[in-house]
Amino acid sequence: MTIVAHWFRRLPSVDELLKGTPLPELAASHGRAAVTEAARSELERLRAEIAGGTLSEDGLEVALAGLTAAVAVRVARRVGGSLRPVINASGVINHTNLGRVPLSADALDRVVACARGYSNLEFDLETGERGRRDDHARALLDQLAEREGISGVTGIVVNNNAAAVFLALAALAKGGEVIVSRGELVEIGGSFRIPDIMAQSGATLREVGTTNRTRIEDYERAIGADTRLLLRVHRSNFEIVGFTEQPELSQLVELGRRRGIPVMEDLGSGALLDMERFGIAGEPSLFQSLREGVSLVTASGDKLLGGPQAGLVVGAPDLVAELRRHPLFRALRVDKMCYAALEGTLISYLREKSDQIPLLAMLGRPAEEVERRCRALVDAVPHLPGRVVGTRAVIGGGAAPGKSVASFALALVPTGMSAQALASQLRRQSVPVVARIEDGCVLLDLRTVDPADDAYLTRVLAGLAP
Ligand SMILES: *Cc1c(COP(=O)(O)O)cnc(C)c1O
Repeated sequence: MTIVAHWFRRLPSVDELLKGTPLPELAASHGRAAVTEAARSELERLRAEIAGGTLSEDGLEVALAGLTAAVAVRVARRVGGSLRPVINASGVINHTNLGRVPLSADALDRVVACARGYSNLEFDLETGERGRRDDHARALLDQLAEREGISGVTGIVVNNNAAAVFLALAALAKGGEVIVSRGELVEIGGSFRIPDIMAQSGATLREVGTTNRTRIEDYERAIGADTRLLLRVHRSNFEIVGFTEQPELSQLVELGRRRGIPVMEDLGSGALLDMERFGIAGEPSLFQSLREGVSLVTASGDKLLGGPQAGLVVGAPDLVAELRRHPLFRALRVDKMCYAALEGTLISYLREKSDQIPLLAMLGRPAEEVERRCRALVDAVPHLPGRVVGTRAVIGGGAAPGKSVASFALALVPTGMSAQALASQLRRQSVPVVARIEDGCVLLDLRTVDPADDAYLTRVLAGLAP
């Protein structure tokens, strides 16, 4: 341990340090306060290292030579914000940790147009008087429903599907009972658990059946004077296989009609199209549920619909009106940017241009095309220790459990480092690249990468090649 007292004197003062390039320019663009704070922190760190005796004389020289650069990095980190774009090469199409799904160009254009200035968010342009924010998106949803042969339904939008379920339970079942199958008491990541959300809403959970088998008679027997809802929860992120039984939705609807109790379905993903066209079974569309006679459906705007984070509640107008009147609606409502993005997305469906929605474009991309792009990458970076491999890209994000689509990836075989170290190097790029690790290789699955990013990816890989 060497504490060399005179080393401290070699450290510049804050004022001296601030004169070194490029700090004056940084102070002009990022503010003097931010740069001064960063300079102080950097000097303190160095002082602590000297005091701790962890620094060699050479180390001190290197640290002093790199001092202004270290301050610049610290400034960028502190005032650069933390939310940044990344490239999703993980092959998980709907990646909750990476912001679920990209928005379409139409959706983004609308967000920019409506947020750059003022908008008619709550203003009726006909009368010049106050309007209702929840009128937005509704007319588009109504038209989409009508096109599917469903009339007499309406919808509202809240912050996310968790909020939609919470609001519906609070508005329709507080103080009463909600009947749910034991096979549907799901947890959707972290704190969204059906029993907990039920307790918070003030409704009492009435469990029926068993984990693997629930019959329509189980629901019927549980109905009493306090029953407010029959709730069906989509098994979004798991499957029950083997000796199983679950009543058909139509049976629940028939029971509800007979006993005068609405059936609500927490659908989760909110697909608007039949997902079978992408080879994904078991993800009923929102309209399919309504067609079967469910009174109220809740769904996410950003799972299989391909829009912004939002919760859609669509169904019988009298029930939707109760949700709208509930005080929680004010707390869970969405802002103009969400309405703009959602309308932009719904319009693509109405124009039958759903391939312009990035999520659906990714799902629909032929595997051969993905393979061709992988080969082009390998060819562009000849020294790269990589090869093209067939993969399965998964739907992810709490939708379509166990479902995947054929895809291709560039498999990088790390040389002289671990796969984790290579993946970490990819994450440290100016636009971080998120890959997945399999069998000691780093896989870059191009199904989830926008073809427009292939050129950037080529540059990143060229930088890695020995
Ligand atoms: C995903 C999901 C939720 C939560 O939706 P968010 O939009 O993430 O809030 C609730 N219920 C089901 C069945 C889901 O799949």
